[in-house]
Amino acid sequence: MSERRHTVTVNVGGVPIGSAHPVVVQSMTNTDTADAEGTAIQIAQLVRAGSELVRVTVNTREAAAAVPEIVARLAEVGIEVPIVGDFHYNGHILLREFPETARLLAKYRINPGNVGAGQHHDANFATMIEVAKEFGKPVRIGVNWGSLDQQVLARLMDANTAQGSPKSGTDVMIDAMVVSALESARYAEKLGLAHDKIIISVKVSSAPELWQVYRQLAPLCDYPLHLGLTEAGMGMKGMVASSVALAPLLVDGIGDTIRVSLTPEPGASRKLEVEVAQQILQSLGLRQFLPQVTSCPGCGRTTSTFFQGLAQKIQDYIRDTMPEWKARYPGVEDMQVAVMGCIVNGPGESKHANIGISLPGTGEDPRAPVYQDGKLLTTLKGPRIAEDFQELLERYVESRYGQREPVGP
Ligand code: SF4
Repeated sequence: MSERRHTVTVNVGGVPIGSAHPVVVQSMTNTDTADAEGTAIQIAQLVRAGSELVRVTVNTREAAAAVPEIVARLAEVGIEVPIVGDFHYNGHILLREFPETARLLAKYRINPGNVGAGQHHDANFATMIEVAKEFGKPVRIGVNWGSLDQQVLARLMDANTAQGSPKSGTDVMIDAMVVSALESARYAEKLGLAHDKIIISVKVSSAPELWQVYRQLAPLCDYPLHLGLTEAGMGMKGMVASSVALAPLLVDGIGDTIRVSLTPEPGASRKLEVEVAQQILQSLGLRQFLPQVTSCPGCGRTTSTFFQGLAQKIQDYIRDTMPEWKARYPGVEDMQVAVMGCIVNGPGESKHANIGISLPGTGEDPRAPVYQDGKLLTTLKGPRIAEDFQELLERYVESRYGQREPVGP
């Protein structure tokens, strides 16, 4: 794991973003922002799942007008989270027309490809920067290859054509994304926005191109970088693609906040993208959000589905109980739990965990040894092995983490 690339720290509504701080998990709602109630409910779900910033689209006057009500509704249920406004095309109008919204949003996302064309481009961009300065807000210069600034792209394409050995179209597009982001950031600074009020992202939808564009951008500035594979897709494809795309950059120390852009399955919860983002950071050892459950894949030695059921049950139990544990048991997120299918690797893996169970494989004695802190604690038998192990887990958490001073209110 490389050292984090050095950046300044940008304060986004109380959440510090930069190399001196842990990589921040963020997400975005998919409700109509004008529906203040629905949007507040979804933001609350995302925050409870662990999102540390939540972005909402601010695309219409109705959406802009709803932001104060969204913030008020969240306050009523005790949720204070920085809300980021995502602006395209009309941000310069909405931020001026809705000053209370501009005041309440913690950051403005500006897409330099979508702030207007020609002579309007700079004026619209400047208006948004003026509002950011007025309210002391940071901005994210969010370049996306699907809406790349066409003026910058055309300029670089012309220069490339004039060269003796022109680059490929993809390479020029990557160059254009980096140039668009940096030129916009420098223009924002020229307009008076402080250097530590700028975060940059340059999102594409293929992993190799994402590595290329961020590796090209990273050494050219010390702005914090927001990482994300845009349009990652649905379900397993989106999760794998995002993990593959983000991991090598994070290993190289590149990236200060991440978002996993999953298309939810119909009717599925939006919070999956937060859980995936957390799991990426946790798997890399960059952050610890909840106890890690190590379970073997199972094989022909354990033909019963009991083992899979127990692994799932323990995992779900930990995730569901975590908000309460987190408040009562500081450090519990570092706990390691093992749920193993037979004696081949079961006892060894269980001994390495804080607490672990090794279930009987096919033809083995119907007994399940439980190890705690590397030593055999007990051997469970009978039809209540799952419930008994959950009880042992609860007792372990209380005895190991309950003696420390609780944090928070
Ligand atoms: S621990 Fe046992 S059941 Fe699990 S994968 Fe290994 S051999 Fe198979």
